[in-house]
Amino acid sequence: MIAVYPGSFDPITLGHLDIIERGCRLFEQVIVAVSHNPTKTPLFSVEQRMQQISDCTRHLSNVKVDKFEILTVTYAKMQHAQVLLRGLRVLSDFEYELQMGHTNKSLCPEIETVFLVTSNEYSFLSSSLVKEIAKFGGVVTHLVPSNVASDLEKCYAKTYLG
Ligand code: ADP
Repeated sequence: MIAVYPGSFDPITLGHLDIIERGCRLFEQVIVAVSHNPTKTPLFSVEQRMQQISDCTRHLSNVKVDKFEILTVTYAKMQHAQVLLRGLRVLSDFEYELQMGHTNKSLCPEIETVFLVTSNEYSFLSSSLVKEIAKFGGVVTHLVPSNVASDLEKCYAKTYLG
């Protein structure tokens, strides 16, 4: 079975990576699909985010990294995927994920959403939290892959240096 793991990944965290690694044990292929959402202003471009994901998933042979700008279920069908993979952290994720799950089911009944519950150590972790810490010069090396930590450092150093 092929699973699409859609998200913003701005940037990818160890929480995302944990879901990808576990997904790779369950599915033949996991397509990590970076969404381009014109209503959000991301820190990293779609291309940078794809590169970050490719770099930290090199050890996984059944991962493909891609981007999409269409409905998630339409994209999943184009990729011949049967599953949408999502991660669940805290109760607040649940309401949004349930709504998205029902919406996607109504649009495309043959595609199932599969939720993986976050590993305990990453349950508090989000991309925005990481950006907030990095912005103020805090250490994020225990929260993101090392390539992302150095991208964040470069990015915010540039901001400070003007
Ligand atoms: P989106 O904008 O689609 O929510 P995100 O990049 O924030 O994109 O998240 C993509 C998916 O990864 C979501 O299902 C989210 O719940 C999940 N996720 C994010 N952070 C974690 C984490 N720390 N542990 C497990 N799942 C996570």
